[in-house]
Amino acid sequence: MTETAITKKALEAHIASFLEDYRAAHDIAPIWRAPIAGFADAHHPLLARHGVRAAVAQAASTFDRERLVSHWSHRHFAYLAGLGTFGINNMLITRSGGCGRYTSVVTDLDITPGQPLETEYCLYKKNGKCGACLRRCPTAALTAADGTSHYDRHKCFAILKKNAEAYQDFGSSYTNEDGRANSVGSEVCGKCTVHVPCALRAPGA
Ligand code: SF4
Ligand code: SF4
Repeated sequence: MTETAITKKALEAHIASFLEDYRAAHDIAPIWRAPIAGFADAHHPLLARHGVRAAVAQAASTFDRERLVSHWSHRHFAYLAGLGTFGINNMLITRSGGCGRYTSVVTDLDITPGQPLETEYCLYKKNGKCGACLRRCPTAALTAADGTSHYDRHKCFAILKKNAEAYQDFGSSYTNEDGRANSVGSEVCGKCTVHVPCALRAPGA
């Protein structure tokens, strides 16, 4: 049996410290709980020293550009771990809101798994109110009626590709599975995520 001298508490304390340092170094707001591609890399040595195996899935860096689904959804792992609930804008709303990014580490560290939350953070899902994200979407990719909602990922992606042609300063947002850039620019929008009640907090909490 592998000796794991590291405890969950010690690891969490280390991660919290790492995040504070990262935020300070990169001058980012506390809403960015885990935005860190290098996070896992930074922790591999720590985990390895304690006989723990850990890795980040390469599948996380790309997605299926026909079906428009990811091969490895950090958000869904975060949901399963109990970090938040999905809004009708298709974003995961955590206690710090939906303007966050995630990463995930696969490990054989023996820790107690989290559980999906029982509460509902999205106001529309909670009581049929809000809908601010629907009104901010420029393509009607988000729709909702009678308590149900729909996200048309193809409508959404159409404007992301258009935006990528206009915003090329930062290069491609994603890569192919071989690591090569697959877009001329940044495939971004996110209007449904900012200036809405769930941007920086969990309104339904
Ligand atoms: S803006 Fe309102 S309706 Fe849209 S996801 Fe956030 S809480 Fe839900
Ligand atoms: S990212 Fe933009 S186009 Fe896509 S659902 Fe949000 S607001 Fe609509």
